[in-house]
Amino acid sequence: MGTQALFATLVYAGRLHFPGWRALNAQLLRECRQLRADDAAGRRWSARNYPGGYTSYTSAHRMQRLSPSFAALARELDGHVARFTRTLQMDLGTRALAMTDCWVNIMGRGAAHGLHLHPFSTISGTYYVAAPAGAPGLKFEDPRLERFMAAPPRAINARRANRPWVTFPAHAGELLLFESWLRHEVAANPLATERVSISFNYSWF
Ligand code: FE
Repeated sequence: MGTQALFATLVYAGRLHFPGWRALNAQLLRECRQLRADDAAGRRWSARNYPGGYTSYTSAHRMQRLSPSFAALARELDGHVARFTRTLQMDLGTRALAMTDCWVNIMGRGAAHGLHLHPFSTISGTYYVAAPAGAPGLKFEDPRLERFMAAPPRAINARRANRPWVTFPAHAGELLLFESWLRHEVAANPLATERVSISFNYSWF
C-alpha cells in the first residue's frame, strides 16, 4: 500500500577523519601542484581540453602507484568504498573491487568540467584537496532524465530525492562516491583561488 521509492540512486558523502589527515591533505596539495609543474604532457592536453585548468587524467592517472601519499589516500578510500558497496548491497563474490585510476584536477578561474560519466568502471568518486568558499560543487543528474517525455518540472522546494539535479558542495578533506554510470559535472570556477581535487575509479575484476 502507499507509494514506494524504487531503483534508488545512491551517492556517498564522507570525509577523512583519522589523526593526521590534515598533514596528509597538505602533502597531497603540494604533490598535486608539483605534478602540474612536472607534467608537460598533461599541461599540453589540459590547454587544449580543459581551459583554465590542469588534469593528469591522460598523463598520470595511476597516482596511487607512484606516490606514497596517494597510496595512503587510496587505503582510506578503500574503506569508504567498501562501506558504500555494502549500502548498495552489491554481491561482489570473490572478485576484487579495486582502484584502477587516480588522477589530479586543478581548476583555476573559469575552468569547468562538462557533463560526463566514467566508462569501464564500477564506483567512481572525488576527494577534495582544496575547495575555497564559493568554489563549485559536484552536480549530479537524474539518470532517467532522457526518458522524461511529458514530465512536469519539479517544485522549487521539492525533496532532494525528487529533484532532477542535485549539487553537493566541495569541502577539503571530504569525498563523494557514486556508481560510475551516474552523470555529473562541475560548473565553472568563478574564483581566482584554485579548486583542487583527486578523482578515482574502482573496477570489479
Ligand atoms: Fe567525473
